[in-house]
Amino acid sequence: MACSWSIPAAAFDLMAARAEADYPEETCGLVFGPDSALEVIPMRNLQDELRQRDPAAYPRDAHDAYHLDGVEFDRIRGEKEAKGTPFRAIYHSHPDHDAYFSKKDREDAAPPGWGPIFPEITYLVFSVRKRKVADVKGYTWSEEKGDYVEVEIQRSTGETPSADPPPRGSCR
Ligand SMILES: [Zn+2]
Repeated sequence: MACSWSIPAAAFDLMAARAEADYPEETCGLVFGPDSALEVIPMRNLQDELRQRDPAAYPRDAHDAYHLDGVEFDRIRGEKEAKGTPFRAIYHSHPDHDAYFSKKDREDAAPPGWGPIFPEITYLVFSVRKRKVADVKGYTWSEEKGDYVEVEIQRSTGETPSADPPPRGSCR
């Protein structure tokens, strides 16, 4: 199963830098565009604000959870969609934990009873230890498996990134 994504170094490094800068809190953000023109859009992690307002509903803090600003998210996504720019990824970090798709990550991506919200994108998880990115893993929806499957992530320093996102189904 050829299921991998060679992320152009500039975009990869920007995500990694944000993950390190936001340590020991979780970073989060969005990625749009074809590999030849990937755009990384860091987002604010609202987890601590939500927790302050309603600790019972939000027991975790920003050290082990992230919450994207839904209004901002919809606005950006709408803008990109109108221009025909593909939505490629949501990234976040795990400070002092491994890069893996947690139960919460899975439920955020595919709420029980709903199925995947964005089956076309890759969820990127950066492991950050002592303010250094230690690992990164990707996950995308597999129609065949009815579950998220791992996407091998590489940092590409190649001069000629592919012009288009891999066709849907290439990981499935
Ligand atoms: Zn996570």
